[in-house]
Amino acid sequence: MSPDIGGQAGPRETVMAPLAGWATPLSELPDPVFAGLVLGDGVAIDPVDQVLRAPCDGTITMLHRAHHALTLRTAAGADILMHIGLDTVELNGVGFTPHVAAGQQVRQGDALISFDAASIAGRVKSLLSPVIVTAGDRTFTVANRSQGREVKTGEAIFTIAPDSAAPEAGWTTAPASAEVTRDVVLRIPTGLHARPAGLISAAARGFQADTAVAFRSSRANARSSVSLMGLGAQAGDTVTLIASGADAEPALDAIAALLSEGHGFEAAEPAPHPAPVAATPKAEPSPPFDPGTEQVLSGVAAVPGRAVGTAFPLHTDRVDVAEYGAEPAVEHDTLHRALAAAQAALQAEIGRAPAGSPQAEILGAHLAFVEDPDLVGAADATIAAGKSAGFAWSGAIDRQIDILRGLGIDRMAERTDDLRDVGRRVLQAISGKAQEAVVLPPRAVLLADDLLPSQFAALPSDGIAGIALARGGRTSHVVIMAASLGIPTLVAVGPGLARVPEGAPVILDAEAGTLRAFPEAETLARTEASVTAARERAATQLHAAAADCRLVDGTRIEVAANLGGEADIPEALARGAEGCGLLRSEFLFLDRVTAPSEDVQFATYQRIAEGLQGRPLIIRTLDAGADKPLPYLDLPPEENPALGLRGVRVGLWRPELLRAQFRAILRVQPAGQCRIMLPMIALLEEIRAARALFDEVRAELGHTAPVQLGIMVEVPSAALMAATLAAEADFFSIGSNDLTQYTLAMDRGNPLLARQMDGLHPAILRLIATTCDGARRHKRWVGVCGGIASLPRAAAVLVGLGVTELSATASAIPAVKALLRTLSTQDCARVARRALQLDSAEAVHRLLGETWPEV
Ligand code: PEP
Ligand code: MG
Repeated sequence: MSPDIGGQAGPRETVMAPLAGWATPLSELPDPVFAGLVLGDGVAIDPVDQVLRAPCDGTITMLHRAHHALTLRTAAGADILMHIGLDTVELNGVGFTPHVAAGQQVRQGDALISFDAASIAGRVKSLLSPVIVTAGDRTFTVANRSQGREVKTGEAIFTIAPDSAAPEAGWTTAPASAEVTRDVVLRIPTGLHARPAGLISAAARGFQADTAVAFRSSRANARSSVSLMGLGAQAGDTVTLIASGADAEPALDAIAALLSEGHGFEAAEPAPHPAPVAATPKAEPSPPFDPGTEQVLSGVAAVPGRAVGTAFPLHTDRVDVAEYGAEPAVEHDTLHRALAAAQAALQAEIGRAPAGSPQAEILGAHLAFVEDPDLVGAADATIAAGKSAGFAWSGAIDRQIDILRGLGIDRMAERTDDLRDVGRRVLQAISGKAQEAVVLPPRAVLLADDLLPSQFAALPSDGIAGIALARGGRTSHVVIMAASLGIPTLVAVGPGLARVPEGAPVILDAEAGTLRAFPEAETLARTEASVTAARERAATQLHAAAADCRLVDGTRIEVAANLGGEADIPEALARGAEGCGLLRSEFLFLDRVTAPSEDVQFATYQRIAEGLQGRPLIIRTLDAGADKPLPYLDLPPEENPALGLRGVRVGLWRPELLRAQFRAILRVQPAGQCRIMLPMIALLEEIRAARALFDEVRAELGHTAPVQLGIMVEVPSAALMAATLAAEADFFSIGSNDLTQYTLAMDRGNPLLARQMDGLHPAILRLIATTCDGARRHKRWVGVCGGIASLPRAAAVLVGLGVTELSATASAIPAVKALLRTLSTQDCARVARRALQLDSAEAVHRLLGETWPEV
């Protein structure tokens, strides 16, 4: 290519065909993003050869990880994107062989990517390959296009020249003041996905400085959440922060803090599951099911529970958009009015959602999209090129969806729902059609191919008995929202779901993972009766749950909740938790690349203490190892990790971890609200060593208020030695899950042993009785925080053995309290004595079933 000066503001460059084939105008591409020039201007080539070659001299600035596209920067600074075929990102690199890497200098004609045209052609929409000058820091005019004819590789296809207009103001311009940069290791376990990106972009917008985040060969405007997500940066990656302007340093501090500390992102994000997604239902409609025959469809249980109700299929109406509209100024105005309307609606919905709830967080991420400068900027640019507001907006959204899908990261792909949702919301506002209010039948079981968060949020949640989705994953945002409302949900039911007609009687069983349409009358009546009875019972129990729990003789039993993090507090309090009997502090340590700092821990514990509004909070120190591995601890390889370095042993092996955690807990105000519990104590010397460290930390902090330091009893030796340990521990809390595992020598995670791994086995009950006897000698209280505390009848037996505190899963608290309130200490003790004499867990269950049949 030869630069020349020809009446433009800078040197004109000539771009040669990187492929031989038919040169086609971009406007003819079957892809609104390329056809709408959203990404830039140029020409497409329908290739007849299989090697993409450099269209001019330059530097490779980006090679997409799917190897189907790359960009090359010319001497004048234009970025030329070459994209082999359409939708080829979905091939994930299959059929492409790159010959270059990002950063490499190339000469015109050098081979860049080879591809197997025959195999690719059958699997994608088109092999038409756009060659475009991307809209970037500087704008270039494309001229002298060769199109509508055959071109050979190396033949000129267009010229480019930089525009004379001054570059736009903003982060993309050359910095007015010196740039400051900082390398930061990304600690957000889930990577830069929607929510953290939204928070970071919001923080960046709070500063005047131009801020950017660079990762590998990409650089994203920090004010743009979609650009940040497009970086594809994952936990452990080092990104470079760049800022310029008066408040560059504080801006970097703020962004660095968000990137490097996680700040609760991890708590809000569900643990990754393999997200099952059923095949997309076929377009051709299958006939509805025959009302005379019961049909059973299988799905994946996403939110447990059962529902009997009426099928209510919900369809997502397409909002059609015309490509062309009025004058650009009018379309611009239309888009920005729609964005403002969407923004106002989202703010109102966020205001209505409980603070800190999943709904509020998800809607907050949507708000960040609506305000996203890159998304809005891309749409504005398309409008300026003569397209309608709706066309421009949907093109901008689709492009971002492609980018997220192209990252090949499941979690990111799942989050494209949020973009689709925001896209739809704004399109609806552009169309001026209000979303029709949906009138649900009583006990509606929603059936949908997939459901978007805003569609769900717009429905009256109290009218929804259940949800079944043909597609969807267990970690989708709709599932998170349904779980927070306790609505039984099945996902991945498959295309058969579309055959369930509106009004069909259905039984959704998210325990068994089935949806029955037109069930037999007898099954329907039986299930209906049991679901109704359970619901009525639950409502009565919930009504009374807030009050303290006392037995009929006045004995006080504290019923607290197990918490896995801050997000669990509202549910726990709503269900009558009298405090937290087990905060599994692992949530702060898992899915990270280093341990959280003392300050991060302190801030989190303080928020949890405040969230509990003065109620007691028992924080269990880190229980890592075995089934809760933390790679950054570098635990030595062990043949049998369940019997190796785990629980308190890790804290004693790495005392700096335990020390930081003690310090963080002791700093929480008011002093005394928090108690501390050590996991997996097996030996007396472990308590002594931990207490010595604890006393040291207290002395360092000058902490004088009394703080209880208790232990978990989850190893048989601790139960058998309880009388000795009680002299040194302020309280016991029985971890029946591990106590069962270690007593029965059955791996708690082994599905083959799940049925026998029963905490009501008399061997476990005897160890609990021994623990209570030992504690009594030193006037220590005993609680239970393992799974059996959540079973009402088992809770009664535990009380009968001498337990006075139960820490259960929040949903079980109302039922546990309800049963205990009907019993006396004598009643409980009598049944416990009989249970201790039985020979198997089954026999204990039988006894309890016979004693309290109504529960
Ligand atoms: C237990 O073992 O019973 C317990 C409560 O601890 P975790 O389940 O967290 O191991
Ligand atoms: Mg345990």
